Amino acid sequence: RPQTPEDVKALVADNSIRFIRLWFTDILGQLKSFSISAEQLDDAFEGGMGFDGSSITGFNAIEESDMIAMPDPTTFNVLPWRPEDGAGVARMFADVKTPEGRPYEGDPRHVLRRAEQRAKDMGFDVFNIGPELEYYLFKDNKGTEVLDEGGYFDLTTLDAGSDVRRDTVLALERLGIDVEYSHHEVGPSQHEIDMRYSSALKMADDCMTYRITVKEYALKYGWHATFMPKPLFGQNGSGMHTHQSLFKDGRNAFYDADDKYFLSDIGKAFIAGQLRHAREICSIFAQWVNSYKRLVPGYEAPVYVAWSRRNRSALVRVPLYHPGKENATRMELRAPDPACNPYLTFAVLLQAGLEGIERGYELPEPMEKNLYHLSPDERRRLGIEQLPETLGEAIEVTAESELVLRTLGEHIFNRYIEIKRQEWEDYRVQVTPWELERYLSIL
Ligand code: GLN
Ligand code: MG
Ligand code: MG
Ligand code: MG
Repeated sequence: RPQTPEDVKALVADNSIRFIRLWFTDILGQLKSFSISAEQLDDAFEGGMGFDGSSITGFNAIEESDMIAMPDPTTFNVLPWRPEDGAGVARMFADVKTPEGRPYEGDPRHVLRRAEQRAKDMGFDVFNIGPELEYYLFKDNKGTEVLDEGGYFDLTTLDAGSDVRRDTVLALERLGIDVEYSHHEVGPSQHEIDMRYSSALKMADDCMTYRITVKEYALKYGWHATFMPKPLFGQNGSGMHTHQSLFKDGRNAFYDADDKYFLSDIGKAFIAGQLRHAREICSIFAQWVNSYKRLVPGYEAPVYVAWSRRNRSALVRVPLYHPGKENATRMELRAPDPACNPYLTFAVLLQAGLEGIERGYELPEPMEKNLYHLSPDERRRLGIEQLPETLGEAIEVTAESELVLRTLGEHIFNRYIEIKRQEWEDYRVQVTPWELERYLSIL
């Protein structure tokens, strides 16, 4: 990976790069991009590139909309899907700054940097994330016609997506992303490509890259890839299981050889933090009306706030320890979906976990039963909470959250609540096909 502006300039010359895209995200996690020509690189590294931020969702309105994009040289990569014959295209992620050169409070990347800084201040070197993004491939973006009827790990003719998946994996590797697994998922025409874990900010950037790469290669085959959390009723939704661990002095701080779960007190308190704050941070990692159609019983997505080692109906799973694999000791949070804003998501996860460590939260006993099968009475007796059932419920819990306010900062917090309340309101007043079918003839 390049480290300095000089490294970047050498790569630009070596690869005949003519255009460099500067990437950042709006507060909902949509990728934003503008191009500069290679000649402008010096200027860009010097003082950043000015742009008009007034029409970016969650940024400032017109009164104060002059923004600066400051490229991060460590994120330079050539885009493999663009032409290469002497007019190549590369990209760098940019931090958004105010005209005075201060970090812009509306920039999700800044929110995650701030969370990482808190972890450093508490003595941790790195917060590692390994996300599993799932997606569907459809014939086009006008409907949900699937390409195959394959299921989990199916191969060959049942898996129409295996060629495009291979092309996508190769492209991700050229973009500096290590891929560990890729396979057909449970749903028809559903896929998953798993990236090797890495530090939170790099991984949030990589999630943005992953999503556009998957979409670009689907398009090369004439298809449409979607990260919509639940595109097909009656089938598995698309999740983004998020594996997490903290490292301290080069060692996994979640590991303890003497504990019956091989979890250290730090690991336990971190998990307890995410369980305790799960309801209030839910609207960040599951941010759309449609996200809550995925978080229902029966489709391997979590509904109840509990942890487990084997059971995939729990919100948090702690994968069984394999001897000699200390560094792989981790928790897996199963509720996030791949249509979240990864910067804000990783920031709230980290802050909720650190809260658990700082305040010494107790981790409850694991729940090894299938939680989908517990009756409401049993759940109440065991004190098991439920995730919000709708975006409307979720956003109101978030609106009361001091932790989320502190994590996002006032600017993003207020915009986010406003935008998401409006989205819920738009949905709430709809009259759906389900209602017409159910009621029209009998009422
Ligand atoms: N698709 C499931 C979800 O919604 C996960 C299935 C799996 O990875 N085993 O999270
Ligand atoms: Mg997986
Ligand atoms: Mg999966
Ligand atoms: Mg998983």
